[in-house]
Amino acid sequence: MRQASQSLYPLMLSPIKVGAHTLPNRVIMGSLHTRLENEHDGVQRLAEFYAARARGGVGLIVTGGVSPNFDGRVEEGAWVLDSAEQLEQHIPIVQAVHAAGAKIVLQILHTGIYAKHDEIIGPSALRSVINPRQPRAFTVEQIEQTIDDFVRCAVLAQQAGYDGIEVMGSEGYLMTQFTALRTNKREDEWGGSLENRIRFPVEVVRRTRERVGPSLLIMYRISAIDLVEGGLTGVEIDRLAQALEQAGADVLNTGIGWHESVVPTIATSVPRAAFAFAAARLKKVVSIPVVASNRINMPTVAEEILERGEADMVSLARAFLADPDFVIKAATGRTDQINTCIGCNQACLDYIFTNRIASCLVNPKACHETEFTAIPPVNKLKIAVVGAGPAGLACAITAAERGHQVQLFEANSEVGGQLNLARRIPGKEQEFAELVRYFNKRLMTTGVQVHLNQRVETDFLQAQGFDQIVIATGIKPRTPVIEGIEHVKVVSYSDVILGRVNVGERVAIIGTGGIAHDVAEMLTTVQASPQTTQAFLNQWGVDLTIQSEGGLQAPVAEGSKRTVVMLQRGTKKPGARLGKSTGWIHRTKLIKRGVTAVSGCTYEKIDEQGLHYSVNGEAQVLAVDTVVLCAGQDSEQDLANYLDGTVRHLNLIGGARVATELDAMRAIDEGTRLAYTW
Ligand code: FAD
Ligand code: NAP
Ligand code: SF4
Repeated sequence: MRQASQSLYPLMLSPIKVGAHTLPNRVIMGSLHTRLENEHDGVQRLAEFYAARARGGVGLIVTGGVSPNFDGRVEEGAWVLDSAEQLEQHIPIVQAVHAAGAKIVLQILHTGIYAKHDEIIGPSALRSVINPRQPRAFTVEQIEQTIDDFVRCAVLAQQAGYDGIEVMGSEGYLMTQFTALRTNKREDEWGGSLENRIRFPVEVVRRTRERVGPSLLIMYRISAIDLVEGGLTGVEIDRLAQALEQAGADVLNTGIGWHESVVPTIATSVPRAAFAFAAARLKKVVSIPVVASNRINMPTVAEEILERGEADMVSLARAFLADPDFVIKAATGRTDQINTCIGCNQACLDYIFTNRIASCLVNPKACHETEFTAIPPVNKLKIAVVGAGPAGLACAITAAERGHQVQLFEANSEVGGQLNLARRIPGKEQEFAELVRYFNKRLMTTGVQVHLNQRVETDFLQAQGFDQIVIATGIKPRTPVIEGIEHVKVVSYSDVILGRVNVGERVAIIGTGGIAHDVAEMLTTVQASPQTTQAFLNQWGVDLTIQSEGGLQAPVAEGSKRTVVMLQRGTKKPGARLGKSTGWIHRTKLIKRGVTAVSGCTYEKIDEQGLHYSVNGEAQVLAVDTVVLCAGQDSEQDLANYLDGTVRHLNLIGGARVATELDAMRAIDEGTRLAYTW
């Protein structure tokens, strides 16, 4: 496999020499914070997590960030590497990865003013806009000590057997806080001029190289575009890159934007490889290898970046949560079996931001590897799965993979359930289509017998002698009780999304949940969809030349031909339950397009005039042509209710079990886990 450079991806799968090391391919698994280190069995779980990716063919793994000292830790309980006693946390991980045939480097991360604890410290005593904690400013002695701490951490990493280190110098963490005027207001030799501001990262690399010698790989993750006001200009980034090379860095990995940037950098709606241009700029000014990152989720995307000469290597992080076998599948002609990262952040970043262990919407085994080790059963069961939405699909393929004989019944002419609606929403098309492609391919390879256009009614299943019956019939959209709900101007979200109805120019949407936001997005999109990279960058005000500070420029205004109002009965912020790391993107886009939201509504009636409602007892009329119902969903349980008590081993999963707070993540998780119980 590792020699398969004559494949479809000759560049991606070709070896490369970096520093004193030769890597078998040009794919790096980028650093992922999993929060597994906080678990009592964290070392074992991390070892298995990384080893699974190493077995899957990735050439080099970068660990999640480990702090060089106590003040720099991400949060309480996060790992620090500042003494030899802690090596026992690392050695099993390194050994597991080496045994599986890959190399591994330790990421050294000092969070500076992004830290989630009380010992927070930064170049200046300035609070970050995304962290309520007040930092104190480093003294000069503390700066010197922190550089020493980085060096000591690198030496300890070398003792643990790591092949190298990556100094985390992007995303708004400590290194960037020193380099940018936004956060560095110092007037001593560590602030002011560019040479002073870059002194801290450059000294870290220089003194580390001096201490560890040539064999330890030193990667530096440079912020290739800051995407914040007061960030670096392109010329300044070039200067930093060159100074890091001179100081002894072997590789420049790239990071895009700071955590506080208001430009989306990794969400589904970001076009694939949209930020490769920033790596390409750097590649022109240094002679060490440069790595491109962000929204690289399929081998073709990686190969094209390398072909265009934009980078020497690619870094994929979430793509390895989604599929540990990404590289081996690409190398063995099974690209269509890759479980593609859809960029949703729902189970990775959003879980981290809410203090949970990361996982993956499309792959619930991610970071839970040790929970899915049950050996295939001796008794092969005959299993019926009704409903081919994500819950039924995940259950069917997992059960079949485990050796059971599975039949899948779907009322529609295609599998996917509501994913087939999601993949019609602008910005979601490509990735949700990938998920449906993945499921289709896995149905074939696992030998599930699929019956399309077959709505399972009442006693059909009873006669077939199934050992297990799985009801994955999903949901039915809720129709609220409002006078005039039968009016011709009232339409369902599914009819709108599927283009079955005409929608007027003035629209009211009943509901402000995820589906309402998606429908509002669809109804107000005027640009061609899917969006081109250039249109995306224009829309969010990204300056490709990075002549301006932070690479920002005025966004190109977006209009909409429709006036859209979303309404809800509740009084919480509309869209409050949207993803923590992506909700702001939806809200910002809709606000730019003039979409408004009304809270605290009591719906009165719908008639020729429009939608009548009241807020705080005050009557209002929205003169609209169309009212779209996005008022939540109820479980589709008709079949389950009919079968209950008449068949043994009846299982409900996904929306059929509980419709409240259902999403594709829960659906896939429930389907996968159920299949592991047999
Ligand atoms: P469903 O997807 O509803 O599938 C049920 C299947 O059962 C259907 O195919 C149906 O035809 C079939 N069926 C029903 N009755 C029978 C029967 N008697 N016989 C045979 N077949 C039957 N979730 C996210 O996590 N992230 C998102 O970004 C996201 N975006 C979305 C965007 C839109 C526009 C929509 C509509 C939904 C979105 N969702 C998203 C929600 C997600 O798609 C659902 O939560 C998920 O599909 C539910 O999975 P399920 O398998 O339980 O049910
Ligand atoms: P939802 O998020 O639960 O929102 C339902 C909306 O309908 C709420 O705004 C609610 O507001 C309103 N509502 C509920 N009952 C009503 C009634 N009887 N009359 C009038 N209004 C009513 O559900 P959804 O938008 O249908 O989405 C379904 C699931 O798909 C969600 O769990 C969501 O997470 C998932 N999804 C996720 C994404 C994503 O991007 N991650 C996108 C789409 C869907 P009030 O009760 O305040 O009126
Ligand atoms: Fe990718 Fe979503 Fe999985 Fe995160 S949860 S790795 S974004 S598919």
